[in-house]
Amino acid sequence: AKREGKNRYARFSKDMHNELYEKLRMETGIRYGLLNREFVVHYQPKVKIATRRTSSLEALVRWQKAGKMISPGAFIPIAEESNLIDEICLFVLQETCAFYTTMQQQGVAVPVSVNISPRQFHNLDFVDIVEDLIRRFQIDPRYLEFEITETTAMHDVAYTLKIMHRLRDLGIYFSIDDFGTGYSSLGSLSKMPVNTLKIDKQFIDDLETNSGIISTIIAISQQMRLNVVAEGVETEEQLLRLDAMGCHEVQGYYFSRPMPSNSILEYLLAERNR
Ligand code: C2E
Ligand code: CA
Ligand code: CA
Ligand code: CA
Repeated sequence: AKREGKNRYARFSKDMHNELYEKLRMETGIRYGLLNREFVVHYQPKVKIATRRTSSLEALVRWQKAGKMISPGAFIPIAEESNLIDEICLFVLQETCAFYTTMQQQGVAVPVSVNISPRQFHNLDFVDIVEDLIRRFQIDPRYLEFEITETTAMHDVAYTLKIMHRLRDLGIYFSIDDFGTGYSSLGSLSKMPVNTLKIDKQFIDDLETNSGIISTIIAISQQMRLNVVAEGVETEEQLLRLDAMGCHEVQGYYFSRPMPSNSILEYLLAERNR
């Protein structure tokens, strides 16, 4: 038994070692990747069902490493454990601001939302960083939006309200991401400068089973006069069902996958001429 315990300890320690090693390797990779311009931002349209036109975009970061595309789900959580998330977030904000300028020059500017991670949201310099970018890129702040998850927003409501209102004073509004997966206090939500609730893809994946939850989110959005956007819409059937339920804006592969800036620009230009 003693021997077994020893083996178990050895195995445990080996796993710990591998995990730590993987984490360090990833961190070094991210640091190098940032310097080496391996990160790119793709954009995915949010579409008004009635007009089938793009109402806004969401910026989604990607890591192109040695010809392979690494999805944010694989590196954001690790970056989130160190200050690397600050650098990734700054990169995404800068790219988004630069892309806004391009859209504006081409006469097809729509608002772009950027995902803000919990650590970034709790970075005390965040508001100053955003203010500086808005000034430097001469952004019309109505064209920049932030998405934070319901969990992040509700974690420390007093803090959330303070930061959100400072950003609101700059002209920025918020979307609540993954709405319905956390526990919102509707009283708190009503005090936040939020203009959109996003229904998480996991609910859209099985519309029938989740129709109660979805209807509730739509009812909340109507009551609070907020936009509501359904994520992960892949089929016409889902689209029609959501429209009938009162959700008139969607995001998902049905209309478009996230695309690099040049492709999205073409998409917006084609749409304008339609
Ligand atoms: P999210 O904010 O909930 O973003 C939606 C995710 O769903 C994106 O995955 C998007 O590509 C994917 N998606 C959209 N429509 C469809 C669809 O019809 N079908 C399917 N199967 N998927 C769809 P992505 O780009 O891999 O991002 C995953 C998560 O990583 C995001 O979830 C967000 O939490 C995080 N993330 C992405 N970019 C950033 C960023 O720049 N900063 C931060 N902090 N987090 C980011
Ligand atoms: Ca999002
Ligand atoms: Ca998410
Ligand atoms: Ca989501």
